[in-house]
Amino acid sequence: MAPTLPIYLDYHATTPVDPRVLDAMLPYFTEHFGNAASRSHRFGWDADKAVERARQQIAGLIGACANEIVFTGGATESNNLAIKGIVDARRDRGSHLITTAIEHKSVLDTCKRLTKQGCTLTILPVDHNGRVDPDSVGRAITPETIVVSVMAANNEVGTVQPLGEIAKITRERKVILHTDAAQAVGKIPIDVAALGVDLLSCTAHKMYGPKGVGALFIRRQAPRLQLTPLADGGGHERGLRPGTLNVPGIVGFGRAADVAQTDMPAESARLATLRDRLFARLQQALPGVGLNGGTSDRLPHNLSVSFSGVDGEAILMAVDDVALSSGSACTSGTVEPSHVLKACGIPDELALASIRFGLGRYTTEEEVDYAADKVASVITHLRATRAAATR
Ligand SMILES: *Cc1c(COP(=O)(O)O)cnc(C)c1O
Repeated sequence: MAPTLPIYLDYHATTPVDPRVLDAMLPYFTEHFGNAASRSHRFGWDADKAVERARQQIAGLIGACANEIVFTGGATESNNLAIKGIVDARRDRGSHLITTAIEHKSVLDTCKRLTKQGCTLTILPVDHNGRVDPDSVGRAITPETIVVSVMAANNEVGTVQPLGEIAKITRERKVILHTDAAQAVGKIPIDVAALGVDLLSCTAHKMYGPKGVGALFIRRQAPRLQLTPLADGGGHERGLRPGTLNVPGIVGFGRAADVAQTDMPAESARLATLRDRLFARLQQALPGVGLNGGTSDRLPHNLSVSFSGVDGEAILMAVDDVALSSGSACTSGTVEPSHVLKACGIPDELALASIRFGLGRYTTEEEVDYAADKVASVITHLRATRAAATR
């Protein structure tokens, strides 16, 4: 059966809201519209109860306690709150930060901002697969180090980091470990207790919840963490995140966490199979197909590939009915290879010839086959055109 067009294969950028999530949210726009901070009437109590249920659902997904979850406006805000908040609260202990070269901009730019305010920063390299060497974390820690921030899974090449091994080192050296888990939570098992992570950022819209809602896990025991808030204005969220809570969004996030937890084993197996089928089909149809990132320790729904001799932007332009992403970033008008692919040691010409496929809950076999055939035919055409031009 021919798939309905256009096809969405950009699930790392965002995901649609699951109908089950939307159903849970709708009553909280109209019927149960109360302010969760209103303590004196039924409307407020109902909203508060719904928020606390969602807090439990999210905590349950990541092995935390409900009182360790603070709601934010997304992973960008959670990353800012985690890193700036811990650095400010621990100023008396030091001002050195450690992160990695493949982080999302919301971590890298936050760390860079702090260097303008007197912090020093170590940016760790990664290997060819995008993996951080836990020993390199140990070597980078100094008596001045406050926090290490390493993402759980990468949004471009899908690499899953050895967080447990890194946490062993940061715990022993009494340094805080933060992880940006926006791409990992709801996709692969993440347990903050088992891993030993201290701060974890996640976001609803990457896991079939609504946009503009995120959470930060803040460890409350061994150690009990104190953070300085980014903003002032009320006692919401234990004084860490003032402002009226986005109750429908939070309810949706909670439901999304429940659905993800129930569906994860079957869904990740299904997606890995589809992902492998996509890669095999591309390889069968084309020479010069390279895999970015490794084959193990990788998100099941991620495929990042280079197609030698073609420009990724030109592929995206020509593939008009499949939503994909390229291996480049448009920084101030010029096309640059992405900092992630660069950090993996992928040569610029291959990074610029890279495409990211992000599969998800609504991806079908027909869609994968269509996308592979379409990309293959576009690349065959682009290569032929190029060969003719250089003849
Ligand atoms: C999407 C994403 C973010 C930003 O999340 P928002 O909720 O959109 O702010 C941060 N880190 C990673 C790894 C992401 O994929």
